[in-house]
Amino acid sequence: MEQHLTTDIAIIGSGGAGLAAAIEAREAGAHVIIMEQAETLGGASIISGGGCLIVGSPLQEGRGIHDTPDEAFEDWVKWGQGSADEKWARFYIEHTLHDLYFWAEALGVKWVDLHHQEGNRVPRWHKPDNNGLGLTTALIAAARSKGIAAILTSTEATKILTQDGRVCGVKGVDSKSGDIVEIHSKALLVAAGGFNSNLDMIRQVRPDLNRVKIMEGSGRGAQGKGHKLVQEVGGYLTHMENIWFYVYATPDYREPQDKRGLVFRRTPGYIWVNQQGRRFHDESRSGGASATPALMAQDPPHAWAVLDASMAATIEIADPYYREGDKILRQRVQDLLDNSPYIRKAGSLAELARKMEVDASAFLATVEKYNRACESGAEREPEFGKLLAHSKRFDEPPFYGIQLFPLARKNFGGIKTDFKCRVLNKHFQPIPGLYAAGEAAGMAGGHINGRAGLEGTMLGPSIVSGRVAGGWAAAEAGFGPGFVGKPNRDSIQV
Ligand SMILES: Cc1cc2nc3c(=O)[nH]c(=O)nc-3n(C[C@H](O)[C@H](O)[C@H](O)COP(=O)(O)OP(=O)(O)OC[C@H]3O[C@@H](n4cnc5c(N)ncnc54)[C@H](O)[C@@H]3O)c2cc1C
Repeated sequence: MEQHLTTDIAIIGSGGAGLAAAIEAREAGAHVIIMEQAETLGGASIISGGGCLIVGSPLQEGRGIHDTPDEAFEDWVKWGQGSADEKWARFYIEHTLHDLYFWAEALGVKWVDLHHQEGNRVPRWHKPDNNGLGLTTALIAAARSKGIAAILTSTEATKILTQDGRVCGVKGVDSKSGDIVEIHSKALLVAAGGFNSNLDMIRQVRPDLNRVKIMEGSGRGAQGKGHKLVQEVGGYLTHMENIWFYVYATPDYREPQDKRGLVFRRTPGYIWVNQQGRRFHDESRSGGASATPALMAQDPPHAWAVLDASMAATIEIADPYYREGDKILRQRVQDLLDNSPYIRKAGSLAELARKMEVDASAFLATVEKYNRACESGAEREPEFGKLLAHSKRFDEPPFYGIQLFPLARKNFGGIKTDFKCRVLNKHFQPIPGLYAAGEAAGMAGGHINGRAGLEGTMLGPSIVSGRVAGGWAAAEAGFGPGFVGKPNRDSIQV
């Protein structure tokens, strides 16, 4: 059967970007339909940590943290290693307070905590209540309450429709009934997320990693389908090789294809050793710009996270199977520790060395040296300068070795757009009727972060670029003035 629908704005994807775009376009008065391939809404956004980089917030001020857009911009550009889209970065930073913090608050989001992330001179990572689940649930509720005409779940967009040189809608297929759905629209907005759950596509853009075991690590829908659809109609992709890998991740033993990985956190006292049984890094610096190059430089490029029983009892797995919002489902974590072929468990450190097949004498010397540093009362251990405040001797069996491999989490490159989020072709001219936002567009514009991100710089820009795209797509369809934001500072217009 074929279904034909007509609307002002069609949106592919129901994550933070798609939802924010839908809210914005509805507020301008446009009629909106969302097409989502999954059965449920929210994409990677709903399983995310929910953290957003925000500058000059009441939460910062309440904790005596003075922060300015200029300082944040300096940190951003430096961290991006010369590869950030500086104009988009400036725009985002200048719009975080009113157009993200207060805007989300007005939709019911509560900002409850602040974290200090690598590369930032002050804490800027704002945590919403109940992480990405809390934030995205509020966006879903807001989108519904604004009267979205239809949200087609289990419907995958398969082709962008064009007529006389302009985009005029999208074709999809309902995965349950097999029915074809055609939406005819005045503008189409691609908010289909990244491609870090598509190992083939990752390897295509990163052939240098072909001999390295890497893992898929975004939301399950992050397959790069939006990129392909946009490319088919002439859209330009940029900075695709900029993939943000984390290394505190181990393969998901429940996944038969052995492609997906699980990120684990809250284990400050653990150490990482390479296959030679030696530490190689300050484990507390676990970010994508510090730990990832350190692990990739090992031979072979993997490591073992070593924990004793009390450290293992604090592990938090980021995957939704292991948690309900902030609550960790401890028995499931224990099942992982007991059953994964990538995790070794032993009654003694010597037995653990044998099971991990690392050089035993080097490994035992490594642990002994770390234990001595912990007992010495020193502030930092001598080898890599790791702060020891949260460390203790490794002395409570069973001991665990968790094998770590790089996990692809976030795409820092994607569909190139202009400042109205209009998709550009290879001549950098807008493709009429086509918009892109969120991770599909490298979070915003194509590559807002560059080679490294300050954290909170994925979801935040996805939401803000979604709002920008929704506003301008609505204007193209004849509704509203385009996105009108409110910069953090009254004195400038960006
Ligand atoms: C576990 C995890 C934790 C994270 N934590 C943080 C964090 O704390 N802070 C931060 O800044 N970033 C974080 N990120 C990154 C951030 O969540 C994403 O960059 C952001 O959510 C992307 O939003 P989006 O709307 O662009 O994409 P998504 O939220 O992924 O939504 C895209 C949607 O499009 C749908 N889709 C794809 N193709 C099609 C198609 N052909 N037809 C129909 N629908 C389609 C997908 O199914 C999906 O629902 C995290 C990511 C992960 C995976």
